[in-house]
Amino acid sequence: MQVENKTNCTGCGACYNVCPVNAITMQGDTYGFYKPVIDKSKCTNCGLCEKICPLDNYKSKNDEPKAYALINKDETTRLKCASGGAFAAFAKLVLEQNGIVYGVVWNDDIVAIHSRAKNIEQLEKMYSSKYVQANTLDTFKQAKKDLEDGTFVLYSGTPCQIAGLKSYLKKDYENLITIDLVCHGVPSPLILEKYKQEFLKNKPDEKIININFRSKKRGWGSFYTLIIETNKKEYCIDGSKSSYLKAFGNLSLNTSCLDCQFNKIPRITDITIGDFWGVNEFDKSLNDKKGTSIILINNDRGQNLLNKIKTNCKLQEVPLNVVTKRNPNIYSSSKAHKNREKFLEYVCIKNNTLNSGVKKYLKIPFHIVIYRLLPQFAKNFIKYKILKMEKLND
Ligand SMILES: Cc1cc2nc3c(=O)[nH]c(=O)nc-3n(C[C@H](O)[C@H](O)[C@H](O)COP(=O)(O)OP(=O)(O)OC[C@H]3O[C@@H](n4cnc5c(N)ncnc54)[C@H](O)[C@@H]3O)c2cc1C
Repeated sequence: MQVENKTNCTGCGACYNVCPVNAITMQGDTYGFYKPVIDKSKCTNCGLCEKICPLDNYKSKNDEPKAYALINKDETTRLKCASGGAFAAFAKLVLEQNGIVYGVVWNDDIVAIHSRAKNIEQLEKMYSSKYVQANTLDTFKQAKKDLEDGTFVLYSGTPCQIAGLKSYLKKDYENLITIDLVCHGVPSPLILEKYKQEFLKNKPDEKIININFRSKKRGWGSFYTLIIETNKKEYCIDGSKSSYLKAFGNLSLNTSCLDCQFNKIPRITDITIGDFWGVNEFDKSLNDKKGTSIILINNDRGQNLLNKIKTNCKLQEVPLNVVTKRNPNIYSSSKAHKNREKFLEYVCIKNNTLNSGVKKYLKIPFHIVIYRLLPQFAKNFIKYKILKMEKLND
């Protein structure tokens, strides 16, 4: 089966979910990204996995979206979320209507997995971005069962995961709402595992119980604050000093993320959510530093849901070219760092530390360091000259 050897495989898990004889497992490849592995002794060559694969098969039926800035008025909830709490606003409505929400949570070993929520307590675990490839597990099968039972279902994930779900479902259920993220791409679960191990190196009695990549302790912005909670302590780390987030920049992304078929306009879901980067250039009053989402309403189903949550949110329509200006991942894939392959080989295959890999392969060339320092140097030089002239005049 070719499904095993696709370079652009996103690891969405559609083939795993569809296999009628459980011959497929999702396992880490050499860099640790989930990929299907077929047990030849179980496979009956039915070809379903190949048919269901969304790569080159799934096409969006949407038109150009409408974009809105969104701030969830429930501040306690918004502070738990990565951006303006858009996901929470939609998801709470679905739960209120006795629906089910699918999204990504940390399991007990701090591995990102898709999970099913039927109450607020379960939903809250889905809040905030887990910057790593999540395992969709059996959730496509579970969602299909819920849909067939007539339950209102919201399924959220990266664009490729939603493409996988839709391809798996085959038909367009009226009781399904899909939400995808504006997606920079995903690092591999192996890279996160290495980061966790390196973090715990001199902390023998500690176990990580939560990671928040988008803490708002220091406010919301393009600077990330990382909170790592262990059974003993809470660590607050400046994102620019975290080897994991530095590598997330572009060193550690999946191959499929670099030429993604699904992270573009028209989007493939009903609603797309992301950060409103560049909000200040548009309207400063939309930024209270606690998080502002950008949402794209991709079709009528998305618009209907938005109409129902309007009163719980501060909303403002924004021209699409304004929101794409500082957020190119709305319409295109991330570009690979030139050292990506070398970095992944050094860390994942040769088993060096993530920290040393980032130091070795994320080196900023000397001419760029000079270029960045130049404006500051020029300012100081002018200040010095003015001071000197003032002294001479005295
Ligand atoms: C890997 C990744 C890359 C991203 N890249 C960008 C980007 O380039 N630009 C941008 O504007 N926004 C990006 N985002 C989205 C952004 O970080 C916020 O998640 C988004 O703005 C929603 O924020 P919120 O406040 O509405 O909801 P939140 O409560 O913060 O978001 C929760 C939602 O994110 C989903 N989620 C969390 N982790 C994962 C995961 N690993 N895989 C799939 N779904 C997940 C949950 O299921 C839930 O639907 C990215 C998110 C992820 C996970």
